[in-house]
Amino acid sequence: MTKLLALVLLGATGAALAQPAADPALVEAIAKIKAIDNHAHPVRYAVEGSKPDDEYDALPCDALESAPPMVRGRPDNPEWIGAWRALYGYSFGDASADHAKTLVIAKQSALRGHGASYAAWVLDKMGIETMFANRVALGNDFAPPRFRWVPFVDALMLPLNGGEMERLNPDSRPFYGAEAHLLKRYLWDLGLSKSPATLGDYVSQVVTATLERQKRAGAVALKFEAAYLRPLNFSNVPQSEAEPVYARYVGGGEPPAGDYRKLQDFLFHSIAQEAGRLGLAIHIHSAPGCGDYFNIRGANPSLLEDVFNDPSLRKTNFVIVHGGWPYTKSVAALLGKPNVYTDFSFITQTLYPRALAEVLRDWLEWYPEKVLFGTDAFGGPEANGVNWEESGWLASTTAREALALALTGMMRDHEITRERAVQLARMLLRDNAIKLYGLQP
Ligand SMILES: [Zn+2]
Repeated sequence: MTKLLALVLLGATGAALAQPAADPALVEAIAKIKAIDNHAHPVRYAVEGSKPDDEYDALPCDALESAPPMVRGRPDNPEWIGAWRALYGYSFGDASADHAKTLVIAKQSALRGHGASYAAWVLDKMGIETMFANRVALGNDFAPPRFRWVPFVDALMLPLNGGEMERLNPDSRPFYGAEAHLLKRYLWDLGLSKSPATLGDYVSQVVTATLERQKRAGAVALKFEAAYLRPLNFSNVPQSEAEPVYARYVGGGEPPAGDYRKLQDFLFHSIAQEAGRLGLAIHIHSAPGCGDYFNIRGANPSLLEDVFNDPSLRKTNFVIVHGGWPYTKSVAALLGKPNVYTDFSFITQTLYPRALAEVLRDWLEWYPEKVLFGTDAFGGPEANGVNWEESGWLASTTAREALALALTGMMRDHEITRERAVQLARMLLRDNAIKLYGLQP
């Protein structure tokens, strides 16, 4: 118990073992910066019998059997206690059943007490001014300007049955089903009962129409979770090659994997091009995902290099979401391309501050104007225990500790002044996002 408490206190004070401490004045300056969170999945909780939130992700992981997550994501991580203390005034140093009951009561009372402003209150606790909510629909609980919408667009790339592609990886199967369901919803939103018969009509009447509708509804970016469904090696396929695949299988039947991939490549390109025209950045998941058999190699951001270099996509900005971890060195190099950015969401929860500081320092020394803070705050439809509030708090706290460590190291090595260190922290935590998305500061 004593050992557990000591660990918690360590987490809460930001100390790190075996690494020189962060500069205290820098820590203080960083704590005051109100962040823009490039990527998160806030969850709406059911009240009085309303239906549970099923819009916090287009591909909920509940459908998959999964081995336990990495150490920091496990329910017994003592750092969650620090989150409960900071968010809900939890007063214990452990999570015994009796003590956990008081947490449930405290959380329910915060939900009731803050009512419609609960989510904004949580953001205040995290030091986050604006959270980009990557959700199927933003929903009334996450109102602008504190929350901004990032919708999912993979479904637009998947107008056919999964067919052979669905069977290549058992973990992909439920995801193809989920995407088909979402495409139905997008069609319904446009007043269509099925996809048009030709690819040209599909692009104009479904792809373009949906992206324009999302933009009108306040979207600031578009999200691809494609790495859950296939490798990210999209090539530039001409419409003449994609058209016959679409025409043959749009009414049903099982497309061979090679044919379907061509159509997906063509549609990915169409979506990316339209995103550029509409001024919406493309967010792409690039990191390991849930499930036991996620294709980690297929999520390598280097696979996107042809897309980044494509002359017909010069107007489209791409954000490598989750820092492309574990390929973060490749990301440092990819950031040299004018239209490529990255965020450090998710690794703010999975890496401890020391490891994250090393990743950030690589990027800070190369292209600091291309790096965006993110939490990947996420959870499930149940309010209790560890959810988007706790994971968001841990991510925000970790990001600040890691930034302070990386910048302190750069100051000690005489690479930057203190003034520049504070400026760099502001850039990563908020200014880069304000500039990329044209947000009102
Ligand atoms: Zn996410």
